[in-house]
Amino acid sequence: MPTRNQAKEAVKILLGYLEDDVEREGLLDTPERVIDSWDEIFSGYSMDAESILSSTFNGEGYDGIVLLKNIEFHSTCEHHLQPFSGKAHIAYIPVDRIVGISKLSRIVECHARRLQNQERITKNIADDLERYLSPLGCAVIIEAAHGCMRCRGVKQANALMTTSALRGVFFDKAEPRQELFQLINN
Ligand SMILES: [Zn+2]
Repeated sequence: MPTRNQAKEAVKILLGYLEDDVEREGLLDTPERVIDSWDEIFSGYSMDAESILSSTFNGEGYDGIVLLKNIEFHSTCEHHLQPFSGKAHIAYIPVDRIVGISKLSRIVECHARRLQNQERITKNIADDLERYLSPLGCAVIIEAAHGCMRCRGVKQANALMTTSALRGVFFDKAEPRQELFQLINN
């Protein structure tokens, strides 16, 4: 893997592709700032799904839907390095362990803050919920607007993409699925 300094040099080369004078005041610290911002927007690589979802509590018999909706997220399209962002809705039905509510938004960050596509984020979150919580069912629904569509190519500023992963009873049975979508649309 290249060092941080090599990464900064690479950004400088890319700037030079756009402008001759990459030493001008406004651009002087841009490589440093770009790599700093990458540390944040790609911080998912240093997060670990297992440690996020391993702090569970006794559900004390609760067997209804747990839904955290409108989780804001920002990610980066791996094809164009353009941002895409939107909302995630995460639900599960516990068997006997429940997880701290903030962990559900952490698990979104864990997958969103990487080079991604929306489909993979959706699937990976559902895989983790299944693997670490063993719920009766789980669901991940993501709606996002993609920078690579807004600013370039087909220039669709208002198009929203929705992806979903439904597992367990949310996949098998119409009733819990209906209840879930009612709760999300409330
Ligand atoms: Zn893209």
